Amino acid sequence: MNRVFNYSAGPSMLPLPVLERAAREMCDFGGSGMSVMEMSHRSKAYDAIIRDAFDTFRRVMRVPDNYKILFMQGGASTQFAAVPLNLMKTGKADYVVSGEFSGKAFKEAKKYGDARLVASSEDTVFDRIPGFTKEDIRPDADYVHICYNNTIFGTHFSEIPDTGCVPLVCDMSSCIMSEPIDISRFGLIYAGAQKNIGPAGLTVVIVREDLIGSARPDTPAMLDYKVISDADSMYNTPPCYAIYVAGLVFRWVEELGGLEKMNEINRKKAELLYDAIEETKLFHLHAQKESRSLMNVTFRTGDAELDKKFVARAAERGMVSLAGHRKVGGMRASIYNAMPVEGVEKLCAFIREFDAANGEI
Ligand SMILES: *Cc1c(COP(=O)(O)O)cnc(C)c1O
Repeated sequence: MNRVFNYSAGPSMLPLPVLERAAREMCDFGGSGMSVMEMSHRSKAYDAIIRDAFDTFRRVMRVPDNYKILFMQGGASTQFAAVPLNLMKTGKADYVVSGEFSGKAFKEAKKYGDARLVASSEDTVFDRIPGFTKEDIRPDADYVHICYNNTIFGTHFSEIPDTGCVPLVCDMSSCIMSEPIDISRFGLIYAGAQKNIGPAGLTVVIVREDLIGSARPDTPAMLDYKVISDADSMYNTPPCYAIYVAGLVFRWVEELGGLEKMNEINRKKAELLYDAIEETKLFHLHAQKESRSLMNVTFRTGDAELDKKFVARAAERGMVSLAGHRKVGGMRASIYNAMPVEGVEKLCAFIREFDAANGEI
């Protein structure tokens, strides 16, 4: 087996113990004589799997009792529509655009009502979280939408913004489970699974109970939080295998010491990488210091050919998927929960070597 360090932004690395356990259980899950992929989602065996995934996630994330956890499909992008369909009661919502995905969410919401831009950092290629205060938000808006970690640009909110009485809705696709979060400050949190949770295909939604049950009448049943919640996320066949693997990841985080420990490790990894890049003369960071992400580190040399060479040479050394998104260029190292400290140390060493050789490598 020759595992590489994979810095892909998503789908991304999964913890090796999780993959190994899934492999062991692939053909015969717990003496059932079948794979989890082959099981009826209504079977007793599968019921235990999905329940355990819900319960472990609730414990790990410290989800308060008055919040429901929903396992949905369609990725975070489907939530860009599900959120306005379910929550736009008066038809008004305010959006903070801090990157590509929050821009898409804003655009989607405009189809369903009066979505208004609160703040944007587009003018500086989203190198920071735009500033705004409670006063910038319409008091009669149904919700304020933010994206907590901007995967493409490598920025992250340094604190949960105060939105007063207006519920805060948050896309946490690329930072969920990377740090402890006070869920009670949010009305709704959603995340596509393929960054920090598990395989693509599963989307997790954490929603305050009082926000469920007000969907527009023409909301598709599959996107209606009440329909999904009433059916315990089994209105139709759920993404069974993705939920099973996610459950193993939740257990892995819990056994490691939960979100406090996870955050401690993530801080250490990010600090190593940011320090290494800052010490070089060749490389420059994209994100402004106070907005830096712990999950996605964006940097470049300023010379597109040299960037390409860096990415290629790194791949030869077993460090893959380091090319930046085309909207930013340069490099992006995604160092999610499953990226071991050794992967970051190896990348730091290569950054130093490349810099010392002035790219002649
Ligand atoms: C990856 C990502 C998305 C898109 O997720 P899909 O599951 O592919 O729809 C949305 N928002 C953020 C912050 C992301 O990182």
